Amino acid sequence: MKPEETEVWTPVPPVVSAPAGAVPSDATVLFDGRNLDAWQSINGGAPAPWVVQDGAMVVVPKTGDIMTKASFGDIQLHLEFREPTPVVGNSQGRGNSGVFFMGLYELQVLDCYDNPTYVNGQTGSVYKQTIPLVNACRPPGEWQTYDAVWIAPRFAPDGSLVSPARLTVFQNGVLIQHDIRIYGPTIYQGRPHYVPHAARLPLELQEHHNPVAFRNIWVRELSLPPRN
Ligand code: MG
Repeated sequence: MKPEETEVWTPVPPVVSAPAGAVPSDATVLFDGRNLDAWQSINGGAPAPWVVQDGAMVVVPKTGDIMTKASFGDIQLHLEFREPTPVVGNSQGRGNSGVFFMGLYELQVLDCYDNPTYVNGQTGSVYKQTIPLVNACRPPGEWQTYDAVWIAPRFAPDGSLVSPARLTVFQNGVLIQHDIRIYGPTIYQGRPHYVPHAARLPLELQEHHNPVAFRNIWVRELSLPPRN
């Protein structure tokens, strides 16, 4: 074959600008340090009850989870989190929060810097499902990053599962979950199993009684082929 015969010229990928230190041009910003306008309480759509301090949103214990007003299917997610100092508690009681994709599937947020706990519940686990490849936690008080690719589950019109959700995650630039299968919504007791739901649902952050902080949260909406 001639070299030209294996050249593909179309379709041309769209241009996305991604300046150093800035949000990609096609991203939806969910928190830029100023306000919680993109968020609401999971309880009846009341205003998000967490506080904004020094450019971060901080969990207010006992106020409940918050969720985005917008709904999403497949996404690339970036967020930054900071575990509380001084350190209080241990195991699941230390700096616990969580990222719930579609409000149902938890990527654990926890302070697992020198803090043993069950490994399918440690930082970067899909809670009670999948252990992270490594523990990439920074000490409490330091900002950390999650960059994730979420592929939503697909359901047939009769509610049966066509393809499970998939997740890839980097913590602080380190791969911790690679294209893993999600077995169903996160549950505390028992084995997960799928329950059919909408193709797009809000992203949720967990209030687990600890003052974890978040900043610089954005998503890029994707449309990826389902994976079996
Ligand atoms: Mg949690």
